Amino acid sequence: MTRILSQEEQLRQRVDQLEQELERLRRERDEQEHLRFPWIDNLGRWEYRIDRNEVYFNAAKLTTLGYACDDVDQPVKYQFFTEKLHPEDYEQVMQNMTDHLRGEASAYEVQYRIAAKDGTWKWYYDRGVVTQWQPDGTPQLVCGIVFDITAQKNMEEQLRRQNKMLIEMAEIDELTQVSNRKVLLKRLAGELQRWKRHRTKLCIVMLDIDHFKRINDTYGHVTGDSVLHQCAQIIKKTVREVDLVGRYGGEEFLAVLPDTTLEKAVVVAERIRHAVEGESFTEGISVTISGGIAEYSGQSLEEFVDEADTWLYRAKREGRNCIRPRRTRACASSEE
Ligand code: GH3
Ligand code: MG
Ligand code: MG
Repeated sequence: MTRILSQEEQLRQRVDQLEQELERLRRERDEQEHLRFPWIDNLGRWEYRIDRNEVYFNAAKLTTLGYACDDVDQPVKYQFFTEKLHPEDYEQVMQNMTDHLRGEASAYEVQYRIAAKDGTWKWYYDRGVVTQWQPDGTPQLVCGIVFDITAQKNMEEQLRRQNKMLIEMAEIDELTQVSNRKVLLKRLAGELQRWKRHRTKLCIVMLDIDHFKRINDTYGHVTGDSVLHQCAQIIKKTVREVDLVGRYGGEEFLAVLPDTTLEKAVVVAERIRHAVEGESFTEGISVTISGGIAEYSGQSLEEFVDEADTWLYRAKREGRNCIRPRRTRACASSEE
């Protein structure tokens, strides 16, 4: 009886032991589950032995760059990674590491581009800290983590490009690819404010294609559109970077010329007129343009633009293909 009981006890003890062991295994499994982060694939880890100039790393740091683990024997020299850095990011990476090693930054933390094996650029977010020092207090070991943030950076770049495109769409006239009227008026209002503060010379030139209706009627609207586009581009490339050219209306363009006297504006407008006259347009069409200039003297924006318009109509009345006001009287067409 005693023997049987003792066997039973032994069995109970064994069951208890097994249950404890099972519980321990469950806990261990749970802990491992906790550590299985979804982004772990992205996470590279590295250690940099400064005194030996050696870097140790896990698979992720290397395989993200397209290398197989067997391609490279560990440890590698620090330069193995730094020589793959994008030239524009190299200085920043070195500076951040130096700052941290000197104790001037609490961590080495930087984003950079690094060349993958196939020559494409990957974006890394890299962060590390000194974890061991030499007896004399100089850093010996830096431990760090590195994330592949290429997808995020590409997304940012795509958003930036889309944003730029949206801004351009809101500010650039679709047909002629120069500024639209809204931008012209905003810039002009800004220039009037500037004039009030500094009293620098400011001129505008209103330009209108001559007999444009005839071009449409003869060659069709599509050709007309292409003449408009070509004209706008000629005007734009004839003025300075600081000047603004925009499409004011149908076949009318306005050039805003800051820091420009009336005499200078006449020279610029004549240069535009000559450039249009001398251009070989699509289908061999001859195009001319007339212009009216106004110099700012404190009036309202509307009055200022009206004045340029008035001079433009004078140019039209006086034969077209000419600029008004002009010191010499004759129109270019009547000069010929
Ligand atoms: P003027 O020398 O007096 O300026 O004569 P014009 O024929 O150029 O002037 P008018 O105002 O009689 O005609 C302007 C023409 O410009 C009429 C209009 O259909 C055309 N136009 C305006 N916007 C566009 C456009 O975006 N594309 C095309 N193809 N034509 C346009
Ligand atoms: Mg016209
Ligand atoms: Mg017109």
